[in-house]
Amino acid sequence: MKYAILADIHANLSALEAVVLDSRNEGCTRFAMLGDYVNYGREPRACLDLVRELEAVCVLGNHDQACSHDPADARYLPSAERMFKSTARRLLAEQRAWLQQLPLTRYLDGFTLVHASLADPAGWPYIFAPAEAAASIALQDTPVCFFGHTHLPQIFTGRNGLARPAEGRIGLVEGQKYLINPGSVGLSRDPDPRAAYCIYDPAAGLVEFRRVRFQPTPQPTAPPPTLAECAA
Ligand code: ZN
Repeated sequence: MKYAILADIHANLSALEAVVLDSRNEGCTRFAMLGDYVNYGREPRACLDLVRELEAVCVLGNHDQACSHDPADARYLPSAERMFKSTARRLLAEQRAWLQQLPLTRYLDGFTLVHASLADPAGWPYIFAPAEAAASIALQDTPVCFFGHTHLPQIFTGRNGLARPAEGRIGLVEGQKYLINPGSVGLSRDPDPRAAYCIYDPAAGLVEFRRVRFQPTPQPTAPPPTLAECAA
């Protein structure tokens, strides 16, 4: 079975739809998602609808938490808090409830999903460098763990978190541990503006980094939910 591994959709519906289409064309039949479905982009409600329609296996991201729980957190700037509240108002109460019940980590078919790092899943540390990767790999009890949060395609391996080029198709060596970031679907933070995701085939021991073009959505922001829809 081939899995499409998606991270950091950030309410970008056209990017999500392009990735879903590409992954189906490539033979993916299941979706695993690494959090940050909402915030920044224009279509949080439609993105959540599609994620749920796909019956994706999902973990919670920090933006999902901030938009569905109380966003008051000393780490966030007032401008960020305003954006979280604005996104929260645009979600249906039952969508916020769905986000709230998402776990921080999840196991699936012999691999692990986490948004930020296994070293502190609820503290949302960033993994950019091998030492940060090594701290997560030390707590990883499956050969492969996928993470998101940095919006950068990355692959780290071994006890020291050695970084390897995250591009193309990579054969995974048995007995090694891999910590892999597929990059961001909706908000690239590397020079390539296309949507990023991974295809993972556990039986074949293959992971493939893919980039997909998408059309930015021209439609206006969806109308905010009514007061009744917002009631908890
Ligand atoms: Zn993100």
